[in-house]
Amino acid sequence: MATCTNCGAEIQPGNGFLIPSNSKKTPSLHLCADCTGKVEAAYEAETSDPRLPMALLLGLVAAVAACLLWYAVVVITNYELGIVAIAIGWVVGLAVVYGAGRKRGRALQIMALVITLLALLFSEYLIVRHFLVQNLAEDGYTGIPLLLDPPIVLFLIVEGIKASPTSLLFWALALWQAFVTPAKKAFRKVPV
Ligand SMILES: [Zn+2]
Repeated sequence: MATCTNCGAEIQPGNGFLIPSNSKKTPSLHLCADCTGKVEAAYEAETSDPRLPMALLLGLVAAVAACLLWYAVVVITNYELGIVAIAIGWVVGLAVVYGAGRKRGRALQIMALVITLLALLFSEYLIVRHFLVQNLAEDGYTGIPLLLDPPIVLFLIVEGIKASPTSLLFWALALWQAFVTPAKKAFRKVPV
């Protein structure tokens, strides 16, 4: 008879669960019905009463910091590494979780997704503007402000995506990462 990995109780047939391991390195677990209920209640509690304003604030702060960091790397190396986008999604997702008071759930997932999309658009603008300013400087034009008019911002974003469509793949991965990071925790369980 299997014993509960958590409390050591013997699991009567039909009264517990096998929790299959996600990796070959860690063993599968057995949990009695009581312990399974406790874990699921804890996961459920993580989705109640998220501090949404703080989540939004911390998410935005993380997004701005990530954008500027990425921009700084592009300025220094003169190279746009698309995979950094995925890190932005992850960082924003984490920031939203912590801002919410270590909470998870659908509202936070959507919030992280939207913030990450804005961060990707803003990063794209900053990066395209950087290369544009460089080209203009070679032609003798200087003094381009950091923030340009919205239609020009939009134009630069569209041109940037046209110039390297593969970045959209990284955007999709970034948005996915932002969406899953604050998701409610769950585990697969098989009745035993
Ligand atoms: Zn137990």
